[in-house]
Amino acid sequence: IRANFSTVSDYEDDITGFITVISDVTEQEKVEKERREFVSNVSHELRTPLTTLRSYLEALTDGAWQDKEIAPKFLGVTQNETERMIRMVNDLLQLSKMDNKNYGLHKEKVEFIAYFHQIIDRFEMNVTEKITLKRELSSGKYNVWLDPDKMTQVLDNIISNAIKYSPNGGTIRFKVEREKYSLLVSVQDEGLGISYDKVHKIFERFYRADKARTRKLGGTGLGLAIAKELVEAHHGKIWAESKEGKGTTILFTLPLMNQKRRDTT
Ligand code: ADP
Repeated sequence: IRANFSTVSDYEDDITGFITVISDVTEQEKVEKERREFVSNVSHELRTPLTTLRSYLEALTDGAWQDKEIAPKFLGVTQNETERMIRMVNDLLQLSKMDNKNYGLHKEKVEFIAYFHQIIDRFEMNVTEKITLKRELSSGKYNVWLDPDKMTQVLDNIISNAIKYSPNGGTIRFKVEREKYSLLVSVQDEGLGISYDKVHKIFERFYRADKARTRKLGGTGLGLAIAKELVEAHHGKIWAESKEGKGTTILFTLPLMNQKRRDTT
């Protein structure tokens, strides 16, 4: 709480009264602190790939470009880092748009089960044989009011993490369960899991449970933060359950449309 105390004077400078303004600054200060931390995080996150780029380019300029074996490798690294930076800047732009609340969601009526199948199909085409995708989707029909492109992004972020962190021979389970007023969607993997004290943090911007590892895997630390914003913009909730060494499940809810009429389906 901050109290500002000032005097009120008349035109002859005689004090005629006092004003005390009491304001709650804790929230304001919290927002300001978060903003400062965010800017510092962004700068740091962008500096890392840029320094990598600089050193590889320096090595190439100093003669590595003539080495037929090394040159393609170094160019590969610069390409990957550039791609990652582009992804990061795109993610940041998207988050900043969402912060400004001036992004329009284009919601429409979507039958969720068929929609989810299509998304999994796309991953099934690209995933290696070492990972099994298992669908445990309800056979009913459930209409949800959503922005298909944005919800695809939510699912893409969750599923690509599950694939990224899955071991060879791992299974990823997709579930949709009907709850009273909403659908419960979950993606479960058998990967390395996240420790108890870190699991609630993974939806924070730039948070990575294992920095070096995720950077190597091309992560930006923004995927789940975006997923959270988007799920909440659809009036749902998102959370994670995880056991170290056993695997992780990301779950989210989406409110059902036309509840009463759909009770039998
Ligand atoms: P990233 O681009 O680093 O994957 P995300 O926001 O998508 O960023 O995820 C944040 C962090 O949460 C990851 O760096 C990782 O540490 C952890 N994480 C997310 N999904 C999983 C998962 N399925 N298994 C284990 N850890 C995960």
